[in-house]
Amino acid sequence: MNYYSLNRKAPDTNFENAVVKGLAPDSGLYFPKEIKPLPKSFFEDIDNKSYPEIAFEAIKQFLSPEIPEAVLKTIVEETLSFDFPVIELDENISTLELFHGPTMAFKDVGARFMARCLGYFNKNNTNEVTVLVATSGDTGGAVANGFLGVKGVNVVILYPSGKVSDIQEKQLTTLGQNISALEVDGVFDDCQDMVKKAFLDETITGKMQLTSANSINVARWLPQLFYFMFAYKQLHNKHDDIVFSIPSGNFGNICAGMVAQRLGLPVKHFIAANNANNVVTEYLTTENYIPKPSIATISNAMDVGNPSNFVRIKELYQNNFERLKSNLSSFSYTDDETRQALLEIYERYNYIADPHGAVGYLGCKDYLKTNPKAHCVFLETAHPTKFLDVVEDVIDTKVELPAQIKSVMNKEKVALQISDYEGLKSFLLNTI
Ligand SMILES: *Cc1c(COP(=O)(O)O)cnc(C)c1O
Repeated sequence: MNYYSLNRKAPDTNFENAVVKGLAPDSGLYFPKEIKPLPKSFFEDIDNKSYPEIAFEAIKQFLSPEIPEAVLKTIVEETLSFDFPVIELDENISTLELFHGPTMAFKDVGARFMARCLGYFNKNNTNEVTVLVATSGDTGGAVANGFLGVKGVNVVILYPSGKVSDIQEKQLTTLGQNISALEVDGVFDDCQDMVKKAFLDETITGKMQLTSANSINVARWLPQLFYFMFAYKQLHNKHDDIVFSIPSGNFGNICAGMVAQRLGLPVKHFIAANNANNVVTEYLTTENYIPKPSIATISNAMDVGNPSNFVRIKELYQNNFERLKSNLSSFSYTDDETRQALLEIYERYNYIADPHGAVGYLGCKDYLKTNPKAHCVFLETAHPTKFLDVVEDVIDTKVELPAQIKSVMNKEKVALQISDYEGLKSFLLNTI
């Protein structure tokens, strides 16, 4: 499959190049040249297919022929080695749990998939790459874990000292092998700025191939379309009119859901559930897209003031505002409303959500007010123990740490402390 740049000032390229480069040379995001709907029989027969079979057929066209089918089969089987259960809370609301992967974050699937694609492209040791990521918490852990031990791929993670949770820090700093953690004396934006600077620094890019592992990268973005198909498989015999409420930050996950719909998945509507960072909620009301500085909230993986994937959503609708609006609603919630929702979900359904899932739940409730017959699935994007302080405080109950988390807490942290860009540069040039 060929990909074009959404800035339209760079040549088209194939899947391999799009993955290795991350961004097009004109700084645009890559977008597939074509989205061919799957045959009707794919959906009629979905009950008889395993998750890896569904994933393989759904994503094949986007990677072909750069990744051969037999290789792709192995990649999806390895990527999807855990469960994606839907829990029905009542007749109208379900949650799709996306936190059963190794770091208990939904980003595990995209990170594991992308890592295996890069590993394949480096099969002859000719394509060594360094993945450079800045993290405010969850992305780093999922990327580090997903790329651990992948031949020819070095991972360098920058995180703000003292600004990530203990669990998150352990997930970043205890892996070793091809994963290096740099503890930055600063805030997340400092980490992000250093990464951007490195991508533009020819003394670095002349020596090594750098790439990013956020949802800008097509190999991390597209596999998220699997989730929506897995939920459909579990619900379609019981409910019509399935809608999804997606806690959104950079809008990669929801945009992948819209690609699943283009492939033919019967989805009635999408809801972008946001915290106080409400650029898209405002856009759908006023038709003006005005990026803002991000605001810190208790659902901090969604603290994004200028969602990078929103240009992909606009492209899917060819900038037709009315068409987009008929398929997408967006609501924005305060931290107080989020806390109240956490408590309500616990008291009403005896279910413990995390703050991001709770925002998704609120999106369902608002949508159902005017669409009482729909069945709304909110995505649980992180395990509640990843946000232990907030969750335990609100529901006034101790939450048991899962095995994945316990195992990492006893390991020893290894991180190099840096305080400025020169620290990053010298690490990349001398150590990698
Ligand atoms: C990354 C993340 C999100 C937001 O996903 P996007 O694809 O960036 O919209 C939501 N919840 C959690 C827990 C996340 O880590």
